[in-house]
Amino acid sequence: MQISRNKIEELRGLLETPHRIVLLAHTNPDGDAVGSSLAWCEILQRHGHHVTCVVPNRYPYYLDFMPSIDSMVVYKGDSEGRAEEAVRHADIIFCLDFHTMSRLEGLSSLIDENQHAKRVLIDHHLDPVEDFDLMLSYPEASSTCYLVALLVEQMYGAEHITKSMAENLFVGMMTDTGNFAFSSVTPDVFRMVSVLAATGISIPDIHVNVYNSFTEGRARLFGHVINRKMKIFHNGTVAHMSLTADELRRFWFQQGDSEGFVNYPLTIKKMKMSAMFTEHSDFIRVSLRSRGDIDVNLFAQRYFNGGGHRNAAGGKSFMTMEDTIKHYEACVKEYAREGLL
Ligand code: 5GP
Ligand code: MN
Repeated sequence: MQISRNKIEELRGLLETPHRIVLLAHTNPDGDAVGSSLAWCEILQRHGHHVTCVVPNRYPYYLDFMPSIDSMVVYKGDSEGRAEEAVRHADIIFCLDFHTMSRLEGLSSLIDENQHAKRVLIDHHLDPVEDFDLMLSYPEASSTCYLVALLVEQMYGAEHITKSMAENLFVGMMTDTGNFAFSSVTPDVFRMVSVLAATGISIPDIHVNVYNSFTEGRARLFGHVINRKMKIFHNGTVAHMSLTADELRRFWFQQGDSEGFVNYPLTIKKMKMSAMFTEHSDFIRVSLRSRGDIDVNLFAQRYFNGGGHRNAAGGKSFMTMEDTIKHYEACVKEYAREGLL
């Protein structure tokens, strides 16, 4: 894959002189959002820019090992107003790993207040909103980290990818591809892995940090969800699971603990689609996964005010848990009637 030459030149023009820059990633930032922000931040800083990485809320604890992650400003609970300050004075705002401002939640009104900054999108989600001065939108890319790696390679040369950048980029490339197993993985993704590996990163260490560093509560919560809460219907082809606030408390839930649970029903033969509902204080977070041609991006858009990718999407519900589940089951029926399932 290549980033269009015109876009590279446009970006080069924007970055010709040092600027004050803000990098924004989405709410509930994952490995790809954080990794792409940190790597892009590092290369921009090395080229003389003043850069602040801002995330709307805290990243999961198992990403704490990522190089320079402490430098990220977490907007929610940021009593010093560092995010406000950075956004207000930014000349350029980069949005990484999301396609609609609604994914910034409370931060989006802050962005609206800065009307002079150039806005640049670097993303791989479907159907991006159009209000950017420059859009590097590549839905076929398996991760935003892969896009950032390509950008650095094409703009500055692969030798500018440092070990810390490589570590950050590898996290997103690995997590967004389900360990390099999804159909979005191309030969060029493996070429890029080889470029990253050559910087001396330890792939086994990264793997252990991301996948084998959870709490005991998380393991027990997982057992509870699969054993007690997984409902399978529609002839064994559709599943859903749910977690109430009370259950989260019981298992000492920490942000990120339920990441990946939604994938598990898809390990069952014949399963086509899976949903996970997690209760938050003012809404229920909806997470959807599917196999093959089943389009959960459309499902999330239609029924849960969300979006994402064809096989991984999400949204929100403002109903009770019980009604959310009923709604889901009814929507599955409608989807099947239309031949979409
Ligand atoms: P996850 O289930 O891992 O939270 O999200 C899966 C995918 O759906 C991600 O690519 C994410 O960006 C997208 N997604 C999750 N929640 C929302 C949402 O509320 N709105 C939109 N538009 N996309 C979402
Ligand atoms: Mn991503």
